[in-house]
Amino acid sequence: MALLSIVLPAYNEEQNIGNTASVLSALLAENAIEYELIFISDGSRDGTYEEIVKVARENPRVKGAEFSRNFGKEAGIFAGLELTGGDAVIVMDCDLQHPPSVIPEMWRLWQEGAEVVEGIKTARGRESLGHKLSAGLFYKIMSCLIKMDMNASSDFKLLDRKVVDVLLALPERNTFFRALSFWAGFRTEAVHYEVQERQFGESKWSFLSLMRYAISNATSFSTLPLQLVTVMGLVSILFSVVLAAQTLVRFLMGTSVEGFTTVILLILIIGGFLMLSLGIIGHYIARIYEEVKGRPKYIISKVTDNVKGEIIGAWRKGK
Ligand code: UDP
Ligand code: MG
Repeated sequence: MALLSIVLPAYNEEQNIGNTASVLSALLAENAIEYELIFISDGSRDGTYEEIVKVARENPRVKGAEFSRNFGKEAGIFAGLELTGGDAVIVMDCDLQHPPSVIPEMWRLWQEGAEVVEGIKTARGRESLGHKLSAGLFYKIMSCLIKMDMNASSDFKLLDRKVVDVLLALPERNTFFRALSFWAGFRTEAVHYEVQERQFGESKWSFLSLMRYAISNATSFSTLPLQLVTVMGLVSILFSVVLAAQTLVRFLMGTSVEGFTTVILLILIIGGFLMLSLGIIGHYIARIYEEVKGRPKYIISKVTDNVKGEIIGAWRKGK
């Protein structure tokens, strides 16, 4: 019988673990789906990992691991994928904002041959205005740079074993899970869902962390900002040709004394463009530097008893 693995990254979610595990177990048992739940505690500072251990003791289908510090949701997802043994894998938030009720539908589509089932948001639950605005800006930047509609997409998706293996074999450190499933291709279906309200606790994203996430994902998926540097250079050259012609004409006519305003403006504009371009290039160099160092995406500090030894071995070696 086919096995479904569910990966749930969790950061300071002690109130959610028990509830989420029981909601999912009940639902999957009801639908006669063989399953395992994999909770990855992302260096939580509350009792998240202790909760995972408790749930794992009660239900052997629950496994979990703890990171040595907060490595971010992306790392949590990839650590979870590494631990899965299922024929299909679903990644979802552990705050139940991704409604479990669509899981049977995803499973059915997979059984009918879909290799990727994307969860598409129809509504973004109730959020604070600030969060809505920053998330809105985040998706605008992302969609524009990656040339994929990111607004409706989410990390809630089902992946076939084949796709999971492809993603796990990627050598890059700075991953962007949401866009990688588009990039990988495969036979894709979609299910639509309404983002639910958070059960307990609050969102872990601040405006700043969202912006950082946007910039880091954009640069890991697009070189458009680098090309922008070329465009700015071209614009400056055009501008300078016009000015050069004007300056020469004035010189030949013997009226070339004025023009300090132009000089000051030119210095400011060109200086600005240069700094901006250097910044963009510097950002990419930083990314290359990070990739070249080849540090692991995450460090595991603890795993529940039912996690197989060889997997931890692979992790410890810095997978
Ligand atoms: N999360 C994580 N590491 C982080 C931040 C968040 O693993 O550094 C997890 C979090 O526990 C939750 C999911 O990612 O399961 C989504 O986070 P959150 O609910 O805070 O984001 P939102 O739903 O507001 O986008
Ligand atoms: Mg959430």
